[in-house]
This record gives sequence, structure tokens and C-alpha cells, in this order.
Amino acid sequence: MICINCFHRSTSVINSRPHKKQASIWRRRKCPKCSFVFTTTEQPSLADNKKVSLPDNKTDTFSLSKLCLSIAGAFTHSTKKAAYDSLWLAKTVEQTLSTGYAVITPDDIAAVTHQVLKNYDELAAVQYAAKYQLIASTRRRGRPSISPSGRAPQTDESPSR
Ligand SMILES: [Zn+2]
Repeated sequence: MICINCFHRSTSVINSRPHKKQASIWRRRKCPKCSFVFTTTEQPSLADNKKVSLPDNKTDTFSLSKLCLSIAGAFTHSTKKAAYDSLWLAKTVEQTLSTGYAVITPDDIAAVTHQVLKNYDELAAVQYAAKYQLIASTRRRGRPSISPSGRAPQTDESPSR
């Protein structure tokens, strides 16, 4: 890698640490010409490695920017968190999707994003879930008035009386 300070054509790795749980490696590089030291992080690029599978055999390219915006949208209660935390949260989601899934779908992205938000900010997770209708099924299950067979609940009032 070239030096980011003097643009010398090569630099050497003087220290490196692989991440214990993620597909990521941290490196400290030094330029032999100007002695400048800088840090790099190498990790898989989800957009280059996996396609997002859509209905009707269509695919899409994963977009970190799109994910970042949707996460920022869940922080209506904190513009500071929206501005400062959306990107690293989106990168955490990208990391999880990079390693854990062979094929990814929009549902996978939503589920992992919800989990990451839940670990960080419960209110953001609730807002995200509401926006993407992730908790609709949970709410239905928790309501005893609707029968498991899916029939409409019986009512005492009848329009013919
Ligand atoms: Zn240099």
C-alpha cells in the first residue's frame, strides 16, 4: 500500500491483529521513506462478495449507504446518535451478514439490523421494527382475542338486530 503521507510506493506492516470474532484484520503500517505510521482495517466487502436475493430470481447489490440511512431513520429520538452512530452500526450489520449467511435477503438484512439496534438502543430497535413491520406478527401472537385458526373473532353485536 502506498504511503498516505508522502505517496511513497510501498509501506511495511509493523503490527497486525486479527479480530477475534469477526472477519477483520487491523494493521499498523510504516513508510520507509518518511517514517509516517498509519492504521488500516481489512474486511470483506459485502457488496463485492454476495448478492441480495430478491423475489422472481432478481438480485440486488448490497448498499451500505442505504442501510446507513435506514438506521439513521430509526433514531428520530436522537439526531446525535443518528449522525454519529449510524455508520458503525451499519458496518456491524455488514460484518455479521458477511460471515454468517451464504445468500442474503432483504429480510435477513432487516433481522440482523434489528438485532444490532436492539443491542445498542432499544427505542431505535422498536422504531426500526415498526417501520419495517417486524413486530406485527409478535403483536398478533400476544393477543388472545384472535383464534389460532385465523378466523375473525366472534362478536355479540350483529347488524341484523
Ligand atoms: Zn511516506
